[in-house]
Amino acid sequence: MNSFANFPERNCPICLNKTPAALKVSSKIRAENLDFASLTEPWRGFFKEKIFFSYYRCMNCRILFCPTYFSSEQLEALYSQMPDNTAEMPMAAIQKTQYSYFKTLRRYSPLTGALLEIGPDIGIFTEACAKEGAFETFWLYEPNKAVHQALADRVKDKEYHIKTEMFNYDDIDNHSVSTVVMIHVLDHLLEPQKVLREIKEKMANGGILAIVTHNENSLLPSFTRSRWPAYCLQHPQLFSPKSIRNLLTTCGFKTIGIHDTVNYFPAGYLLKHGLWATGMNKLGNEIPNTTNLIMPLKLGNMITIATLSEGK
Ligand SMILES: [Zn+2]
Repeated sequence: MNSFANFPERNCPICLNKTPAALKVSSKIRAENLDFASLTEPWRGFFKEKIFFSYYRCMNCRILFCPTYFSSEQLEALYSQMPDNTAEMPMAAIQKTQYSYFKTLRRYSPLTGALLEIGPDIGIFTEACAKEGAFETFWLYEPNKAVHQALADRVKDKEYHIKTEMFNYDDIDNHSVSTVVMIHVLDHLLEPQKVLREIKEKMANGGILAIVTHNENSLLPSFTRSRWPAYCLQHPQLFSPKSIRNLLTTCGFKTIGIHDTVNYFPAGYLLKHGLWATGMNKLGNEIPNTTNLIMPLKLGNMITIATLSEGK
């Protein structure tokens, strides 16, 4: 059997330290012990057992990351066949969740000038910004071409630019963007520093950066252990308030707020996933998704607000 040779080694994404960090959590079958071909089904979620790359904690900067992970080429191949993972979630629940992020953003951002959103998907958050904000320009970087039309429809009365990449913001003037938003993007990036530094160049003085991520230091992972849904093949690192602050400081940002976020879920969906997370898969499969009851839950996500640090 092939082992490590299939996947590149990765240094700590914050301090770039190569020293082995301490093992925090791993799945029974460890992804790093398999080969690429045998991970394509687990990646799509079609596999009976939960498999992920082991997470280690860097002793310097406390971030939780996978020292062995997919290469960027492997990731590109995998993301091109990623199924829509929100398909079983009703739109009303998604809208409520995204709107709660918007409510946090408007406490910090004047909602004027240019907005850069990375990974807006079909643009639910973007629409709140278009309807309730006074942004003049929308820069939307969304690799999934299938959603571009839906996205365009939500900002059709505004000046907008929809790009197929996730990075490379050369078309945007330096120091021109008032607000940057990344919702469940940073956990997925192989090189979060590179992207944050690129963003920094584009931000105007006093600009606001809002980042939604999982919070590995929240209550949920402490009792679901390795079953926590955010431990998965899609996340080469996971943040806590402490480690995201460290990353932002390293990249020339100043963190000005970190808040737990509220996610809205249909009651049936919650029950099903709750049963799965505690190992009662058979019972979980019996629960129907269809229900009109939508419940707010703090589910181990956070929104981090940062601005440019002075003198950088
Ligand atoms: Zn580190």
